[in-house]
Amino acid sequence: MASVSEAKSLVLDRITHRFASGTMAVSDINLDVKGGEIIALLGPSGCGKTTLLRIIAGFIGQSEGRVIIGNDVVDALPPNRRAVGIVFQNYALFPHLSISENVGYGLAARGVDKATRNKEAQRLLDMVQLGPFGERLPRQLSGGQQQRVALARALAIKPSILLLDEQEALSMADRVAVLSHGHLEQFGTPSEIYDQPQTLFVNTFVGTANRVTGTVIATDADGVKVALDAGGEIIARAPKPVRASDKVIVCLRPEHLTFVSDDSGFAGEIGMALPLGATVVHEIKAKDGSSIKISQARTGGTPLREAGTPVRVAPLAPGLATVFPQ
Ligand code: ADP
Ligand code: MG
Repeated sequence: MASVSEAKSLVLDRITHRFASGTMAVSDINLDVKGGEIIALLGPSGCGKTTLLRIIAGFIGQSEGRVIIGNDVVDALPPNRRAVGIVFQNYALFPHLSISENVGYGLAARGVDKATRNKEAQRLLDMVQLGPFGERLPRQLSGGQQQRVALARALAIKPSILLLDEQEALSMADRVAVLSHGHLEQFGTPSEIYDQPQTLFVNTFVGTANRVTGTVIATDADGVKVALDAGGEIIARAPKPVRASDKVIVCLRPEHLTFVSDDSGFAGEIGMALPLGATVVHEIKAKDGSSIKISQARTGGTPLREAGTPVRVAPLAPGLATVFPQ
């Protein structure tokens, strides 16, 4: 990030944390982040995101593993000596201090004189487009404005690493770490996470995916051929090794499917048709009771298909279906 002074790399080396209550909040996390890279932590509530940020910032001492910033192992350093800026989910502004004093707080704690503090606070408030609000109290600002004050406050200490908790960072992230129950499921670019999910959890948590069951017929260089329980065959990619006769789950994203006229793919009849403006979603119900959804761009007024019409749908390309062991 441009505003971070002298961005440094961050390495998490086998980080594990058990709270005194016994909860294993994060388990054996390894991450290697380059200086200046923007990383998003993604996962359901309770998967360990905030705990990991607090460990990096130094508010929690991890049970096992090391935090390395630049060339230094920082485990023995308190938060104010790590040059890590953190913006908490609830912004945590001091309610009785003015906006300007909130932004200058970290500088005051470092012994910076008042005139310099005020000047720096004004520069940062201008940067987050809150220039005129320095004299107000936090409760006199909207939630979004308070969030920008918290960002300005984190930047005031010129951090080498900036951590933002729950800030919708996915769209701006260079890479995303997906967590589930304290475990790192996958670490990759947003398109790797979306297009080449490594686990069933990532495939279904990020974006939407139909799940159907089947049995592996054969595996070769083109991918894995699967006989679907609902009838029909599909070629898919397998991030984890599978073998002939293995029972598998096949994940198909609705927007990666197309209607086909041969005997490949998932067979059924049209259930519901949902015209959603620029896209149309059709539900397809198979004889065995399973159903999947296909989503298509509605170019040139693509007609809706009538309920009960027999159809087949298959992935637009073999790599767009993914199999996982059942
Ligand atoms: P997230 O930010 O991804 O929602 P957290 O890191 O806050 O998840 O929590 C991870 C797990 O650790 C949860 O099971 C949560 O209940 C537990 N936990 C978080 N903080 C504490 C704490 N101070 N004491 C005990 N357990 C905690
Ligand atoms: Mg959290």
